[in-house]
Amino acid sequence: MNDKIKKSEEEWKKELTPAQYQVCRMKGTEPAFTGEYYKTKTPGVYLCVACGNELFDSDTKYESGSGWPSFYEPIDPERVETEEDTSYGMRRTEVTCSKCGAHLGHVFPDGPRPTGLRYCINSVALKLDPKK
Ligand SMILES: [Zn+2]
Repeated sequence: MNDKIKKSEEEWKKELTPAQYQVCRMKGTEPAFTGEYYKTKTPGVYLCVACGNELFDSDTKYESGSGWPSFYEPIDPERVETEEDTSYGMRRTEVTCSKCGAHLGHVFPDGPRPTGLRYCINSVALKLDPKK
């Protein structure tokens, strides 16, 4: 994608709440079972909180028991980017927003059918746009 959003860290700091900045820009993780959306079953589309990119549909959200919103696939594979993350002595795959580069969470190969993937996403990086 060549319509990537580029902003300075100062600009992001002004636009995002401290909690959003910590996760989206500093690659933090919200504590399990504390986020706004881990139990949410409201139908709708989950947007990137930083740029509004449509990331996940509530139809692909499932209860993983992890304490974070979990999805088995993004709305479109182009909406997210993945990269190997070996921080904290773990081998994980980081998921970022393809439009603004915000850190969203990680993807693990222990999800349900049909993809077998579990996109484990921080609530604070998402904004639910409920279906009308
Ligand atoms: Zn974004």
